[in-house]
Amino acid sequence: MTLKVCKFGGTSMADGIAMTAVKKIIESDEKRKFIVVSAPGKRFNGDIKVTDLLYSCYDELSKKGDCSAAFANVRKRFESIVKELNIEMDITSVLDETEKRINAEKSSDFTASRGEYLSARVMAQLLGAKFIDSEDVVFFKEDGQLDGVKTYKAISAAVADAEKAVFPGFYGKGANGKVKTFSRGGSDISGAIVARAVNASVYENWTDVSGFLACDPRIVDNPKKIKNLSYKELRELSYMGANVLHSESIFPVRKANIPIVIKNTFRPEDEGTAILPISQYKPDGTVVTGIAGKKNFTVILIEKNHMNTEIGFIRKVLSVLEREGVSIEHIPSGIDTMSVVVDSEEIQGYKLEQVIEGIRNEVDPDVIRVMENVALIATVGHGMSSSIGTSARLFKAMAEANINAKMIDQGSSELNIIVGVKNEDCEKCIAAIYHEFFG
Ligand code: ASP
Repeated sequence: MTLKVCKFGGTSMADGIAMTAVKKIIESDEKRKFIVVSAPGKRFNGDIKVTDLLYSCYDELSKKGDCSAAFANVRKRFESIVKELNIEMDITSVLDETEKRINAEKSSDFTASRGEYLSARVMAQLLGAKFIDSEDVVFFKEDGQLDGVKTYKAISAAVADAEKAVFPGFYGKGANGKVKTFSRGGSDISGAIVARAVNASVYENWTDVSGFLACDPRIVDNPKKIKNLSYKELRELSYMGANVLHSESIFPVRKANIPIVIKNTFRPEDEGTAILPISQYKPDGTVVTGIAGKKNFTVILIEKNHMNTEIGFIRKVLSVLEREGVSIEHIPSGIDTMSVVVDSEEIQGYKLEQVIEGIRNEVDPDVIRVMENVALIATVGHGMSSSIGTSARLFKAMAEANINAKMIDQGSSELNIIVGVKNEDCEKCIAAIYHEFFG
């Protein structure tokens, strides 16, 4: 039978009312058999996500050797959820055990993972489903990457006898046998892993929005909703700051061509956005699919006459960054110039000086300059490759909004055009590009 894997994000798990909505969604479709949940998110503006409460527990634990004061807040959240749901569950014992284990493990990852663990325990009880601890079925390799072979096998075995099962998202077991988390928002990745392991027909990702919008609604009022986008477009947009879905979530499902559908827990009848392999992707005729931006990049600009004829020039520059362990975002280049764009966090303080010094020693440039506080804006869409004049329109829109492009990079697949602007021009630039292409 075709089956669906559903992941419910933090707002869908925020309180008893939200969890009741989740139960209704699951029970309205018998194909929704395997569920992955996040920790309870914010209930209102200014509220604190359970995962953030847990990071405070770890701070307290590191300072005092025990986290009881901070854990009291986590305790309150779960006790009130269980009370609201009115289920038979001895949550106090589960919380006591959890607190004990946090104090014993003394690990930031373990502590942070408990929001998902507790949420999944409660959801399993609410649904009368099997609880499968991700610690027992999601495995990382020595290098921190997912051990897909071992993980998929373990998940299939664990669900074999389950009519319905609930998994906590966000964590698994590291190569050292200890609980290890993905990066923040990583329950989306867990959902994709379960979908791949059980060969789901679809991976439904339930959030508090009715899908992907063509740009951030805090920047443009009522942006157009994207009905469907390809895995590649999703990756570009989510990497550049469209934060509906973790940018790594497509990797597990992409190999098996499993579509992802973004749905809204609080408006389940809304169509949502489908993220599809290119073979199933139906372009809706727009040139641009979406625009997203991210601030705080550093651009290192290197100039040297006859750079193009100096064999190994780029390799030598990049070897300096490799030595310093700095990952690179983009490398736009010209005949006698090249720039290296890196996330500013990667290259703070003395590291930047070391990199500059290293490049000077390695290639003896005529000029080396650093531009900080640069925002990168990605304009993404398969439609761009078949329409002439897209970049002209984009740069005209920027010029009319009086925004200077400090860097331009167009991927060779013509899937995206990336421009670097001053941080403070980021929102203005996204709005200008949006209005040019979407009216
Ligand atoms: N609870 C984790 C976080 O806040 C993971 C997730 O929500 O996906 O980052």
